[in-house]
This record gives sequence, structure tokens and C-alpha cells, in this order.
Amino acid sequence: MDAIAAAQALSEIGYLLRQDPEERFRAKAFSAAAWSIALERPDLDALQRTNGFTTLEGVGPGIAKVLTDLIEHGESRYLERLREQMKQPAREDESALDLAEYQGDVHSHTRWSDGRATMLEMAQGARALGYRYLGITDHSPRITVVNGLDAERLLAQSNEMAEVQRQVPDVTLLQGIEVDILEDGSLDLPDPVLEILDVVIASPHVRLRQDASAMTQRMLRAVSHPHVDVIGHPTGRRPGSREGATYDFEAVFREAARHGVAIEIDCDPARMDLSPEMARLAYECGCSFTLDADAHAPAEFAYVPMAMWMPRRAGIPTDRILNFLPVEQLTRRFD
Ligand SMILES: [Zn+2]
Ligand SMILES: [Zn+2]
Repeated sequence: MDAIAAAQALSEIGYLLRQDPEERFRAKAFSAAAWSIALERPDLDALQRTNGFTTLEGVGPGIAKVLTDLIEHGESRYLERLREQMKQPAREDESALDLAEYQGDVHSHTRWSDGRATMLEMAQGARALGYRYLGITDHSPRITVVNGLDAERLLAQSNEMAEVQRQVPDVTLLQGIEVDILEDGSLDLPDPVLEILDVVIASPHVRLRQDASAMTQRMLRAVSHPHVDVIGHPTGRRPGSREGATYDFEAVFREAARHGVAIEIDCDPARMDLSPEMARLAYECGCSFTLDADAHAPAEFAYVPMAMWMPRRAGIPTDRILNFLPVEQLTRRFD
């Protein structure tokens, strides 16, 4: 078993444990171990032979036992048991997705808002992974705590982007925004600003517990907006700590599909939004997807390989995930 497959199994365990508040810390430990393995990609067979799993960062005896099981049997009995407990048995129709074909990440942050790395560092991180493009999508002004970008700062950012693009020519940088979906479904930046950006991700961040009918109207308005390309982390949930928004998902997904607006699977272990079950519903409603790390530092790009089990489990094929498209086709999609 390769490191990425093992990281996905640990990631899924972390995800399932998160549903139980009492398992919060163990859940985080599994997610952290999955992340470190996805980053380092160690030779797990060699470590197994030398009993060396606990030399890996974040791997204690409990997680080492799960890794041993994975290497020896090709699966984890612990994971199987958790799936049974959570009534999420493996399904026959999981899709096959090849990480090697993943072209780039649409959703990332830099120090322009709440990221912890510069745009150059993020671009270099994307290049190190062989990505062909990277969407730089910092926050819009409403999110004042993170210094969201207005039109003036977006213009300044585009100057920096031109310079970074010169330094990292093999990764096409897409200038975008993660624009807030306001309470009434309007967006936190004026249309002429959204129009010139390469990618517009509209995300719900506040007032997630609006009543379902108001929330449905809010989301329907957002997916109908002519400049929106993607709905970011569509429920805003934080598994184990914050319930996300509830709305008429089917109506919103159908409308998104009709407008060619992609639905995001945000791979940040603290979000994992949409869930596999909800992603399956969106798929059945005809939606396309983006599979993004929502990275705030280059190391967080590894969230995508970790979470690849989610779209697989949802049965979503490669041709419904925009990150598998060559950059020319992607930008045409986002036109
Ligand atoms: Zn967000
Ligand atoms: Zn984000």
C-alpha cells in the first residue's frame, strides 16, 4: 500500500471519529497523521519491516497498529468497524480517481488575507507538486478579521501576481476571490470587480443557521449569479464542532448544475464539506465539482490527496471534477 492510500484511510478514520464529540482529540490525531504521511510520502513497507511507524511525525502506537493492519491486509479492520458503526459501509459504485491527473487547485489563500504564506511561496509549493495552475482566492472585504480584499487591493494584488507569474512561469496563476454570500444571497463585491477575475468562489461564512427557507433563497440567488464559478464549502460546517447550513440542497444543486456552477469539496480536515453523502446527491443532481485544499500554507495542498476518498466514495467520476481539466479548458469553463 502506498503512502497516499494509507493517508486516505487515516483521513477517513479521522473524519468518522469527528462525528463523536468524545473522540475529538483522537480524530484530530488521525487527521494529523494522515496529513504528515500525505506530505512526506514515506516508504511504509520498509517502515513496517523495521517496526518504524512511530518514528513518523504524529504516529503513536494506536495509529501504528492501524498502519500495520493496512500494510499487512491492504485494509483497516478498525476503519471497517467505524464505517459499520456510522452506517457508512463501502459501496459498490465507488469511482476510480487518479491523483496523477490532478491539474491544480482552484481555492487558496495568501498573506493578502488570512493565508500564512506569500503568493510566491504558494506558487512555488504548487510547482513542487507538479500543478499546472493555482487559483489565488483570498477573502472579500466583509470578512474584516482577515483583511478581505476590495477592488483597490485586488488591483494591487494583480500587480504582485504578474511578478510572481514571471518567477514561476510553469504554474498558471488564476486571480480570484472567495467572495462572501451575504444574508440575502447577494455578493460582497460589485459585479464589475467579479467580472474581471479569473475565478469567483462564492462561500457562506456567517449566519449559517438562518432558517432553511431563507437559506435556500440565499443559496439559489448565489448559484444564479452570472459571475459565480464555484460554491465554496457549501454548508460551512465544521464536523464535530459546528453544524453547517441547512437548506433545500436538491433545489440548490439542480440550479447550480443548470447554471454550470461547480460545487466544492473542501478537503480541509476541519471542513470536509461537502460530505461524501451530500456530494453524491449533488452528483445525482447533475453538478460538477472542484476538489480543493483551501490551503492557507503550501503544506496544506496535501489535504487534497488525503481527502481523495471523499469524491471516490461519492461515486463521482473524473469528468465531473474540474481539477482534472487542462488549464485552458478550466479557464473556458470559468469564463
Ligand atoms: Zn471559506
Ligand atoms: Zn477559503
